[in-house]
Amino acid sequence: MIRAAGSVSDALADRPLVLRTHDRVTDHARVELRVLHGALDHLLACSSTADDERSLAWGDAHQFSAGAVYRMLKSSGCGPPLHDLNWAGYAPLKVKVFVWILRHGNTRTRAFLRHIGCLDTDVCPFCLRQPETLAHLFFTCSRQRLFWRCTLGPRRCALPTSAEAAWVSLQVSNPSWGVPLWSTVTSCLLWVIWKTRNRMVFDAVHLPLPAILEQVIEHLRLWRARVPSRVSFESVEQWCAVLL
Ligand SMILES: [Zn+2]
Repeated sequence: MIRAAGSVSDALADRPLVLRTHDRVTDHARVELRVLHGALDHLLACSSTADDERSLAWGDAHQFSAGAVYRMLKSSGCGPPLHDLNWAGYAPLKVKVFVWILRHGNTRTRAFLRHIGCLDTDVCPFCLRQPETLAHLFFTCSRQRLFWRCTLGPRRCALPTSAEAAWVSLQVSNPSWGVPLWSTVTSCLLWVIWKTRNRMVFDAVHLPLPAILEQVIEHLRLWRARVPSRVSFESVEQWCAVLL
């Protein structure tokens, strides 16, 4: 039951904290719930009829907001993984949301759709051998190897197996770009893989590698207009020029 006027003090008065979904939580969530109970056991809340007030104990802002929490986490050196890859670039918002969903493992791959009961098969539509998981679709499927080899440069770079690894590899091969451009280009590469996968699945159009690389160049050419004038995009344009 949700009580709109309830306070933290009210909730803690009903110990032990009982979740209405308790019989449906996963084993991992059950472990997290035990940790939460352990933390709450040491918490003393003042009994009060006033509304709860939320504030941050430290950081550059004490008023509680999602933005202030992000800044506090980043300044502590333990920010959310891939935060900069997700939000610090110049990709359109819909692409940032796509990367956010990918980071959290909720991209609608065939393995995901089969897991939630929407598909009977999880087989990759390209190689027809492995389940189409996130890692397989974006990184380890045989069709991706040459794509990443072309976009990440010299053979000494190990092929990535995750979005974070791709982002780091791009930093190694293009150290002068800086965070916003690394993030923009990595987001573009992931977005183009997803778009070309959907062309194959929904329109039966199987683009060859040169056409996929052309899509990368075209997207970055469009996104160029989103880059502020103080940021030089020339190095990315040079990178695009040698892609084909
Ligand atoms: Zn495959």
